[in-house]
Amino acid sequence: MQNAHRKVVIVTGASSGIGEAVALEMAAAGHAVVLGARRTDRLSDVVRRIGVAGGTARAWRLDVTDPADFASAVAATLEEFGTVDVIVNNAGVMPLSALAALKTAEWNTMVDVNIKGVLNGIAAVLPVMQANGSGHIINIASIGAHQVYLTAAVYCATKFAVRAISDGLRQETDWLRVTVISPGTVTSELAESITDATARAAMAEFRKITIGPEAIARAVRYAIDQPPDVDVSEIVVRPTASPH
Ligand code: NDP
Repeated sequence: MQNAHRKVVIVTGASSGIGEAVALEMAAAGHAVVLGARRTDRLSDVVRRIGVAGGTARAWRLDVTDPADFASAVAATLEEFGTVDVIVNNAGVMPLSALAALKTAEWNTMVDVNIKGVLNGIAAVLPVMQANGSGHIINIASIGAHQVYLTAAVYCATKFAVRAISDGLRQETDWLRVTVISPGTVTSELAESITDATARAAMAEFRKITIGPEAIARAVRYAIDQPPDVDVSEIVVRPTASPH
């Protein structure tokens, strides 16, 4: 029997870490989940696990920097599930380094994935939500959206931007729910993209204390579960024992 509260939820970056945990949590809550990322083998495995547990999920190859990928993911979602109720713009990268290291290609990648990727996600679902007169856009920012850390100038800039975009979007309508979730250090593959040796060593220390990605997934669930007139605009979730 179909859950009357079932929502259709798109999760980007669902092939690992927080996105994977969000997809599992959403499916366990009875929602239909569309998982997007580039590593389709990883997505297929999550979809399989959700299916075994009795949930509903589909995978879609999605590079968030490509608006055409988003358009086809949303079209496929509409064809199969009839609507999009929620998008969790979670995909992100964090190749940290000092600006003086001049890793300009990595700066561009962070801007493309962490900022433009979120904007592409918003652009892809907003017309559907506008037509429905309801919807929920959940953007994963960071504690780095509140404070700038050494070697993280560009990363933090992208996450400050996610908060700015989210708050601007929230103010534009009286029907769209917009939520920013800002995690502290969470166990995931995020730090593996750091190529700069100094930043990598510093992050190993910074990330000594982490919490599991399920903690962020529960925050997503909390935001979604509120009644339609309640917008949880921001949640910060961090390890109790971490000073950051
Ligand atoms: P992971 O590295 O485990 O996951 C990142 C996800 O983003 C992967 O699924 C990856 O999938 C996806 N991704 C990266 N680039 C693209 C792209 N171009 N198109 C589509 N998907 C992409 O890290 P986390 O789970 O930790 O990160 C998730 C989010 O949480 C990020 O936005 C991160 O900034 C944020 N965050 C994480 C914190 C932490 O401590 N872990 C703390 C604060 C914020 P694939 O490679 O298959 O495309």
